[in-house]
Formats: sequence, C-alpha cells, structure tokens
Amino acid sequence: RLSATNITVRFGGLTVIDNVDLEIRPAEILGLIGPNGAGKSTFVNVLTGFQKPKAGAVRIGGKDITFTRPEHRVRAGLVRTFQAVRLFPGLTVAENISAAGLAIGLSVSETRKRERELVELLSLGDWINVEARALPYGIERRVGIARAMVSKPAFVMLDEPAAGMNEDEALAFLAVVGMLRERGAGVLLIEHNMGVVFKLCDRVQVLQSGRTLAVGTPDEIRSHSMVREAYLGSAA
Ligand code: ATP
Ligand code: MG
Repeated sequence: RLSATNITVRFGGLTVIDNVDLEIRPAEILGLIGPNGAGKSTFVNVLTGFQKPKAGAVRIGGKDITFTRPEHRVRAGLVRTFQAVRLFPGLTVAENISAAGLAIGLSVSETRKRERELVELLSLGDWINVEARALPYGIERRVGIARAMVSKPAFVMLDEPAAGMNEDEALAFLAVVGMLRERGAGVLLIEHNMGVVFKLCDRVQVLQSGRTLAVGTPDEIRSHSMVREAYLGSAA
C-alpha cells in the first residue's frame, strides 16, 4: 500500500499541509475532496515527488520514498496525471502513448504491445492516428491516462481528470477509472463532482485548509455533519 504519514508542507511562512495522513490500498479508489486551495494538488505533488514535505514520510509497500525523484517513483509503481493535460500536440495518439513507454526505458516491441493493450482497454481505437492537437477534450484526457498507465503502475493519482468533460465523456471516463481498480491498482481521485465521488470511490478523505476534516466511506462522509456544513452544503 501507499501511505503518507504526518505530512507538513510550507510555502514561505504559509502552512499549506498541516500534519496530514493518507493511505491508498491496492484495488481501491480513494476520493480526495475539499474546497479550492485545501491542498489537494499539493498533497499529490508530495506523494509523487514533485514537492518535498517539511515533515512526514511517504512509503510504498513499507519502503520510504519521501525524498526520491518523480522518475524513481514511476519505477516504484506510482504515477500521476496533471490538472492540465500534457500531450505532444504534433504526435498521434499512438505516438503519444509510445513516447511514454520509450521514455521509461521499455523496448520498442514491449512499448508497442502495451500501446495496443491500452488502446483496447481505454477504447481509443478510433483515435490512434489522430494528432493530439485535434482531439476532443475527453479523449485527450483519456490519452493522458493511457500514458500514465504504460508503466503498469500499482498506484495512480488522478488530479481532476474529468474537469471540463461533458456528461458522456465523464461517464466513459468513470468506466476507465473502475477498470484501473479491477486491474488491482490503487487510485487516488481528486474530483469536485460529488455525484461522481460518492458513486465511484471506496473511501473519501476530506481536506480543508491543509488538514483532514474526515475520512470514511461515501455514506459516512455524506452524513458527516462537519463535512456537510463546511463543504457539501446543499449539494449533499
Ligand atoms: P484546487 O481545488 O483549486 O485545485 P487544491 O486543493 O488543489 O485546490 P493546492 O493547489 O494544493 O490546492 O493549493 C493549496 C494552497 O497552497 C493554496 O493556498 C495555494 O495558493 C498554495 N500554493 C500551491 N502551490 C504553491 C506554490 N508553489 N507556492 C506558494 N503557494 C502555493
Ligand atoms: Mg488542485
């Protein structure tokens, strides 16, 4: 499992994450929710090695990876997508996926094999020869996930992957996230749509002002009085 304990992050004098614990188990989807500026993306940056914490530790299967680089974490089985999609605009979908495989040192034949698997898994068959710059938004995001999945990660961090998708794209995307769990991956999902969170996640952790307000099952979080008051409002 992936665990973070007593994580604190400061920017200048500002404490953005204040002594937060978080755990992701294999084959589960953990929803990470909270208002804008709560520290969700910063926390994912700590988990994935893009931000060093002031205090605390990140472990994968018990092994301390707190100060390892992002590339090392990919090899350890931990990958992410970014809030903004990062594809090569002039390359096709197939080439974008392959580039991710080659970048982590896979052979050409292994890269091709995984590219075909991911195209199948993510239903990207109609798009393989289309340049990334011409993709509809929802497909672009799905290619971002395919790129992240090339290394067959044990843990996948998704920072608002459905942001800006229309209803159909969001539904197709939900199926993809469910598939990651079926394959045994532990998924962290940052998502503002509470309908999606409660439907899809096994557990939910609520951050507010850099602290954990609550962790629990969707039912527990939905009925948590402090969460309702502070965050969900009438949406619950
Ligand atoms: P959103 O839902 O809007 O994406 P978030 O929960 O992901 O919000 P973060 O992006 O983690 O929030 O930001 C948490 C706090 O840290 C905010 O107050 C933000 O302004 C601040 N912050 C984030 N990155 C930096 C940085 N590099 N330097 C200084 N402050 C930062
Ligand atoms: Mg964010």
